[in-house]
Amino acid sequence: MKASEISCSILLVGTELTEGKVRDTNGSFLAAELKQRSLGVREIVLVPDNLPDITEALSRLTERDRVVLISGGLGPTSDDITRDALAAVAGVPLEEREECVVHLKNRGIVHALKTNARQTMIPRGFTVLPNENGTACGFYGFHKALTVCLPGPPGELQPLFFRFVMPLLSETFHLESPPELLFSTFLVSESVLEEELTAPAIPGVSWSTRAEELRVVVTLRGKNPEDLKGLYEHLRGVFGRNRVVPGEMEAADILSRILRSSGKRVVCAESCTGGLVAKLLTDAAGSSDIFWGSFVTYRKEAKERLSGFPEDLLDKYDPVSEPVAKAMCKGALAGSDADVAVAVTGYAGPEGGADRIPVGRVWIALSLKGQNTYTLCFDFRGGRGRIRRQAAVAALLCTASLLQDGERLDSNVNWGYSCTVFPLGPHVQ
Ligand code: AMP
Ligand code: MG
Repeated sequence: MKASEISCSILLVGTELTEGKVRDTNGSFLAAELKQRSLGVREIVLVPDNLPDITEALSRLTERDRVVLISGGLGPTSDDITRDALAAVAGVPLEEREECVVHLKNRGIVHALKTNARQTMIPRGFTVLPNENGTACGFYGFHKALTVCLPGPPGELQPLFFRFVMPLLSETFHLESPPELLFSTFLVSESVLEEELTAPAIPGVSWSTRAEELRVVVTLRGKNPEDLKGLYEHLRGVFGRNRVVPGEMEAADILSRILRSSGKRVVCAESCTGGLVAKLLTDAAGSSDIFWGSFVTYRKEAKERLSGFPEDLLDKYDPVSEPVAKAMCKGALAGSDADVAVAVTGYAGPEGGADRIPVGRVWIALSLKGQNTYTLCFDFRGGRGRIRRQAAVAALLCTASLLQDGERLDSNVNWGYSCTVFPLGPHVQ
């Protein structure tokens, strides 16, 4: 059977949706993902958290379609009744499932004491889909249609969809999945990314993106794997190969891997990031192999205690300046036995610096032992937290680029920010 002949429908449950308080995104997400696999969606239905309405829609859709995807109404509160409606339509009782009880316990909820007990009740004969991102497990079963229930929060629904529902559909209907290529991009805005995805105009390639704060996860799809690879390489050329990486990597993992494979260790000198670079590098266990430590030098006096830091430097230059970033970097390297150093100094706001140095200005200095010191200057945008997170991630990625590409740090890496790179000529000392 052709995928387009498998009729699907989507049922969105929630009074917040029918009252217009929450804008639906699950319906369009699910419809777009089904369409990517050439499955046809006949109808998207919105109903309030009301038993007769949910039951009526469910009976009609499961009678007619082969696949019914349901979103919402799986929460712990008494208004969330999708599970009751589905059990009623399927003509089976709800029963407590051990795996759901364990799931709640693992999330620190003693279900006997809480309303969450409802979330352990699943229609008999249905299979549980464990939800890593929330308390409500999804579930599916075959009652007339293949009926799949997913929790409403998009951050819970989407991972469950990719992890369980797509493989389930492929297996049930013997769908051929088109070749896919999944990768992560860092510090690239979705609109800049979209422009570069569109630029080579490769026919037959489509994509979906999942934007997080500083990372966008992209899935490319198309008939020809070479086309996907071509587009991926195009992006790596534009943004740099450490800002476009395969799979769903974290920025710290990119640097950690490079350090590990080259047997090197990094040291940091941090000002505006206040230890965030160190935190990100130590999120994974076993990082002492690749991370020496970080000097968090926030005040002037702290910076001046770094090894070899010139006494009068901070009288002559702003703390957020190229010479200070360089001196921090050199001091960290000299005061440790690490092989590579990265220093970060910037104005995270709300106040900028003297001489109209703007909020968001961040200097990053990098140095490999015995080699030149490179500096980069960024003008990040956003609130204090966001600027600090951008600065920390940029520090990780710039260090990765220095280790991998050396002098290529300056070339063709479109940061998508106002960013000046000063790696060569008079700026190198
Ligand atoms: P649930 O507890 O499963 O009913 O889901 C509750 C929350 O998920 C709602 O308060 C919304 O914030 C979100 N949500 C539910 N349905 C949708 C939808 N169709 N699109 C976007 N967000 C939704
Ligand atoms: Mg609800």
